[in-house]
Amino acid sequence: MKEAGGTITELVKRRFGLWREVVRAGDFVRGSVVMLRRPCTYRGCRLCREGKKHPATYLSLKEKGRTTLVYLPKRLVEEAKRWVGEWRRLDELLREMSRTNVEVLRLLAKRVSKPKGGR
Ligand SMILES: [Zn+2]
Repeated sequence: MKEAGGTITELVKRRFGLWREVVRAGDFVRGSVVMLRRPCTYRGCRLCREGKKHPATYLSLKEKGRTTLVYLPKRLVEEAKRWVGEWRRLDELLREMSRTNVEVLRLLAKRVSKPKGGR
């Protein structure tokens, strides 16, 4: 019992550390920044005729199997990349927190299912 309690204390401490990182997170967005070459609507466009088209940067979002693109002006590209990076960091933090909670549940389950004296 005593040693298990110590381990839970460690896990709770770790979880608290993860929480502190989560609440300090900056803006984030789930998606990725992609550069695409898309055609324009101008009929006589040389770039489109030559297959070069028009490169532009987008935020690509997948939701329920559908991809949505949000156009990113040049001056927003770096900001969007930071937000995407922040999402990935948070995602990893939450996964780590979940793994920690799995361990907490394992220890709690052991305690609960331990036969009590006399039974
Ligand atoms: Zn064009």
